[in-house]
Amino acid sequence: MTVHDSHCHFFSRRFFEALGREKYGADRAASVEVVAGELGWEAPGEPEVLARRWVDELNRHRVSRAALMASVPGDEESVAMAVAAYPDRFVGFFVVNPVSRDGLEHAHRAFATLGLRCACLFPSMHRYRLDDERVVRLFELAAVHRGAIFAHCGFLSIEARVRMGLPTVLDLRFGDPLALAATASGFPTVPVIVPHFGGGFFREALMAAEACPSIHFDTSSSNSWIKYVPDLTLADVFRRAIAVVGPQRIVFGSDSSYFPRGWRTVIHGAQRAILEELGAEEDCCARIFSGNFERLFGA
Ligand SMILES: [Zn+2]
Repeated sequence: MTVHDSHCHFFSRRFFEALGREKYGADRAASVEVVAGELGWEAPGEPEVLARRWVDELNRHRVSRAALMASVPGDEESVAMAVAAYPDRFVGFFVVNPVSRDGLEHAHRAFATLGLRCACLFPSMHRYRLDDERVVRLFELAAVHRGAIFAHCGFLSIEARVRMGLPTVLDLRFGDPLALAATASGFPTVPVIVPHFGGGFFREALMAAEACPSIHFDTSSSNSWIKYVPDLTLADVFRRAIAVVGPQRIVFGSDSSYFPRGWRTVIHGAQRAILEELGAEEDCCARIFSGNFERLFGA
């Protein structure tokens, strides 16, 4: 069965540099290699090299295509290079902070010039409401350029920051799927992806998706947020999500990010087993693992 992965991070040199700057200050910024050593991860090399590393990794696991996310604001170019080198394997996503001074400009360039397909929002980290007027501007840009929006709701943990001992100050109130629905409802042609089934706001994410047919869920990561709900299992989450929004609005994602760990087979295996356990039909699985990705980002 074809597998496309809607959630992978492209940890470019810029990503490592940003961590080094934050930890050691701009003047004493640590090299990419030092930061990688501190994380226990492979240093990435230039974007072309990292893109090749990903292609080999996807080949090894028979994954056809992957969304690659530029994971710090301002790093759109690295992913654009990867997509330009392997357009049949990668779809470009980019993190943007729409309330920063040049956020919307970056988004415009990413959609219009660099050919990236999805703007990724982390409202609890960058501190803005998902119904903020500048988020509406971003949806307008996405609508004009046939882009998509990814909006991280619920709890958020950033492994690289934890490993580096960097604090992440979050205001979790901003990751509200209902505020997202309020904005997304005005842009029915703009596909929206809420990762990790809402990251703890599962009930709200279901309500938002029911109210707003453009909202999709990605299944990515370990979904450890289920610990907030007594006795909830990931199988329950899949069953409920399929019942409420249907398999056509659920996209498989692994949340793979760094090497040498590489592509997260464990996540894929666990989710496939759950769908089997639920007796999901072949058509349902085909949509989740590849069909919906193709509908959103082209065949
Ligand atoms: Zn992620």
